[in-house]
Amino acid sequence: MVFDPCSLLKASLEGDDSGTSILSIDKSSKKFEVIVKNQIFKSLEVGFDLDSFLSQKIDSSDFSTELIYKTNGTILETSFGKFQFPEGEKNKDYTKFCIKDITTRQRQEEEIAWRLRFELGVASSIQILIQQHSIREGLPQALYQLLYFTEMDSIFFLKYEPNEVEDRFKIWVNERKTTKYPLIPKECQSENWYDIGLGRWIHRLKNGKTIHLTQSKAMPREKWFFDQTKAETLLLIPVRFEEKFLGVMGFLKYKLNSPIQHENLLIYQTVSRWMGLFVQRDSDLAELNRYKSALESLILERTLDLTKTKEELERAYQVKTEFLTHMSHELRTPLNSIIGFSKLIKLSDSDETGKEYLNYIYTGGIRLLNMINEILNLMKIESGQIKIQITTFKPEDICRQTLDLVQPQAKAKGMDIRFRPPVHSKSITSDSGKIQQILLNTLSNAIKYANHPYIEFDCEWVGDFLEISVRDYGPGISEEDQKRIFHTFTRLNDDGNVEGTGLGLSISQGLAIRLGGMLELSSQLGQGSNFKLKLPEIIK
Ligand code: ADP
Repeated sequence: MVFDPCSLLKASLEGDDSGTSILSIDKSSKKFEVIVKNQIFKSLEVGFDLDSFLSQKIDSSDFSTELIYKTNGTILETSFGKFQFPEGEKNKDYTKFCIKDITTRQRQEEEIAWRLRFELGVASSIQILIQQHSIREGLPQALYQLLYFTEMDSIFFLKYEPNEVEDRFKIWVNERKTTKYPLIPKECQSENWYDIGLGRWIHRLKNGKTIHLTQSKAMPREKWFFDQTKAETLLLIPVRFEEKFLGVMGFLKYKLNSPIQHENLLIYQTVSRWMGLFVQRDSDLAELNRYKSALESLILERTLDLTKTKEELERAYQVKTEFLTHMSHELRTPLNSIIGFSKLIKLSDSDETGKEYLNYIYTGGIRLLNMINEILNLMKIESGQIKIQITTFKPEDICRQTLDLVQPQAKAKGMDIRFRPPVHSKSITSDSGKIQQILLNTLSNAIKYANHPYIEFDCEWVGDFLEISVRDYGPGISEEDQKRIFHTFTRLNDDGNVEGTGLGLSISQGLAIRLGGMLELSSQLGQGSNFKLKLPEIIK
């Protein structure tokens, strides 16, 4: 049996899933002949001039792969392959020539490339929105970026800004791929949409629905919008944050019969969701800034008020201090005369009543003078006018001098003052007169308020600090009262039996502070009190 190699070859080619043929090419004349081809090849070669395509390729010895775009939209991929023909003539070359229909593959690749581009556009426009501080600045750029990568020709953003009675929009952005496309009608911003025939749209949008409309499907009253924009397709997507309607993102497309694909619609809706987030963020920030500046001006106002009040108070206080100082001074002169002259008046021994009255005048005058002196003292301390006279001396000497002054008072009450000088004597540089004033006050208080056979009066050095304490075993002072005892005019349990003004301790504390020290109290009700004066070795 004799095999026909051609029919065998032909049979083997039929198994291929692409169009396959074998060509014989004359080496010298470059003439070619299709020796064999399969069925697929035959169907694919229809509709284009294969002969002239091949003779051009063979003439130029160009055996590279090439794409052929047929007029019916089919895309063919042509390729050559080496082939050894067993029975071939010597002066001929044999080659495999294949045609493949790659229309679907090509479309898919284009689709993928387009989608990648689209998604890139979406990502980069969102990135712009993230980076910009204010959406008003970032939005036009972001939307233009998005438009550039999409199938759409025009993009716009309408910010929902209703007034008290009507729905209203502001055109924030309107970008187009080329200026030959008109801008969207001004009426979208200046008019109520119900009045211009677009009531159906706003109703749907406010309910979260997307509007995808071609001009042929538009209602008669909506047609004017398409006439003015000259667009073929309109896409309106509500921009919302949570349930709040913030505006409308819109697209226009001018190409005929080119509806928006469902997957793309989903992407546009995703972008609009992002937009909602940014628009809301922007208005939150704006509101926050409004609050911030309102708060700032309020604080500024309050600060000014407070400064004014403080200045007024300070002025008033100064005036009061000056007045009291002046008045106390003026009062002292006539008082001194009253006291002095009441002392000089000599009445006959029989005039008991006269003597009694005179004594009232005298003691009353003394009391008044004491009080005025104390007020004067306090005013001087408070207004910082107190003068300090610094010398260096032994503190125990001052203690002893003070002791001598209060001794008669103590004796009169049958009390003993037990003085303990410092173990190691040391000098202090301070104001001895002021120290004596403080000690006189605390010692006479101890005598006045305690009913115990003795008072302890200790003077000692604790490091660089002098501590002089006056400890009595009198009624003591409750914790509550300790808090206010150094305030002016504080008198505890004032039954009128013990003389005093309630100023001594506040003066003493003021003086102690002025000397760089402190007057401290520790006491327990029923256990007595300990007033401790702490002073630095050298006043600063
Ligand atoms: P004055 O003695 O003139 O009333 P002070 O300012 O010296 O004013 O004292 C204020 C008040 O503190 C006194 O009225 C008295 O009630 C209370 N006080 C002061 N020292 C003692 C003390 N050693 N024991 C108990 N109470 C005291």
